[in-house]
Amino acid sequence: MTLPSANCAVCHVAARLTCTRCKVVRYCNGEHQRQDWPQHKSCCRPFREQQDAQLGRYLVATHDVKAKQIIFVEDPLVVGPKWFLTDEEKSASIVPCVGCYTPCRVDKHHCRNCRWPVCSVGCEHEKLECSVLSLGNAPKSKTDVRALVDYYRHDALLVLKCLLLQQQHPDRWRALLEMQSHEEERLGTELHQEAEQRVVGYLRQRFLQRIKQSKQRDSMPSDYEPQLLHRLCGIIETNYMVIELATGIELSGLFRQACMMEHACQPNCYFQFDAATQRIAVRAGCDLKKGDHLRITYTNILWGTQMRHHHLLMTKHFSCRCARCEDPTEYGSYVSALRCLGDVSKTCVGVQLPVDPLDEKTQWKCDTCPMVVDAAYVTEVQTHMTEQVESLLAGRPTASQVELLLARLSQLLHTNHFHMFNLKHTLVQLYGHEPGLELGTLSDLQLGRKQRLCDELYNVCRLLDPHSIKLAIYVSIILIEMTHTLEERARREQAEAAALLEQAELRLKEAQDVVEKVLDSVAGKKLNDKLQKHFAEHYKLTARLKLNTLN
Ligand SMILES: [Zn+2]
Ligand SMILES: [Zn+2]
Ligand SMILES: [Zn+2]
Ligand SMILES: [Zn+2]
Ligand SMILES: [Zn+2]
Ligand SMILES: [Zn+2]
Repeated sequence: MTLPSANCAVCHVAARLTCTRCKVVRYCNGEHQRQDWPQHKSCCRPFREQQDAQLGRYLVATHDVKAKQIIFVEDPLVVGPKWFLTDEEKSASIVPCVGCYTPCRVDKHHCRNCRWPVCSVGCEHEKLECSVLSLGNAPKSKTDVRALVDYYRHDALLVLKCLLLQQQHPDRWRALLEMQSHEEERLGTELHQEAEQRVVGYLRQRFLQRIKQSKQRDSMPSDYEPQLLHRLCGIIETNYMVIELATGIELSGLFRQACMMEHACQPNCYFQFDAATQRIAVRAGCDLKKGDHLRITYTNILWGTQMRHHHLLMTKHFSCRCARCEDPTEYGSYVSALRCLGDVSKTCVGVQLPVDPLDEKTQWKCDTCPMVVDAAYVTEVQTHMTEQVESLLAGRPTASQVELLLARLSQLLHTNHFHMFNLKHTLVQLYGHEPGLELGTLSDLQLGRKQRLCDELYNVCRLLDPHSIKLAIYVSIILIEMTHTLEERARREQAEAAALLEQAELRLKEAQDVVEKVLDSVAGKKLNDKLQKHFAEHYKLTARLKLNTLN
């Protein structure tokens, strides 16, 4: 799925020749390549790089491109362990294997040369990297887990991998240094201090400063000044792409072209990663027109504007000014809106929206009455709610617990607010599945509630991500739950059964179409398996109910 076809585009036999221009399409011989060129011309590298002062470098479509078509395939500059670890990940005793990133115990198997953890005795890793790592003094005790965890900082390994490109791939090294690092903005920030302690100081003291005494120093990097290492940290932070392997392991990668794609809070492209070749394929998320900028989203599309801005500013050092960010209603979704509480004399049915969504300190104004609240109040409400939602969802709540919090939050938040969305998305997966709330046991009222929730969630997704690019997993789950609801109604309402089952089938097919975009992830694979089973059951049900109506 991730990779383009390995067969000839003309006669479909296994083919060795690849179009040298795009490296996407294959041919069995030169004759077939020439024959295909008039058609292939319009989809061979259908984009170009452009540059301006505001956006820096970005990519633009040079032809119309159909949804899901591959726009380009690219080898990485560097791929390595996950960047930006949580506190738990920093202290976990399960770490990625230094060779293949499979999770392994920090105190079990170690590379014979550098002593870094490996998944199995035979798992090897890159030679130069191994030589540099072997300059460190690995903890003597093989059982002191805490010392071992502090010694094997796998996130720092990504910076070392970048540094080693100097020797290994000078062309990739040059391309890497051309990337934006936001060095100036990083100075004095928490990110910079954190990188100093966790990565830069660590790599220098434990490994790099020992290069001078090494016998192999001629083949090792000669420049590892703190400034260069910080620049690499900045380049990674600004540009890295999250790669989720089908095994669930998360890696970080830098790609020369893919990293040039512009950010927008509504994407029109997506990418899939092929673990075997480490290549990514960038695909059109919807039909693209000539001249469209290629866009992906670097933040959580379900968050409100304030949270997205904060996240992008902290991690990517820029303020997004896309159409959604400028719109106080966020495409009419109201995912940040609060309910207006009115004043002492009168209640109000209006909603509070930011006057200038791009200004953190903006006032929030009611769309119905003259009531105004300040940003500090909004932040306080949001923070308080975030804590409540997170702590509830972390504890595997029951449907009635979620309903309770939903009712509480609904007094202050718009019904589409992102916290409400989160709770409702949990709820639709509980109704019909929670022990005691199986589909057959739901009351008509509960079934109706499930359907309404699904519809509401689906509408928010359509507004924020009309082509289900970034929200593919969320949307597939909603569509599957919609199908369950429609099928259950078909069982209960004989007269409507045929129409309901038809609707259900359309939902299933839509889910199938959406899930194709995320087949390279664990969640996507699981959903796809579920969908296949669901299709079979759906046809069985359809056959059975048809039989009933005939009798
Ligand atoms: Zn052929
Ligand atoms: Zn081509
Ligand atoms: Zn391994
Ligand atoms: Zn090694
Ligand atoms: Zn935006
Ligand atoms: Zn009001």
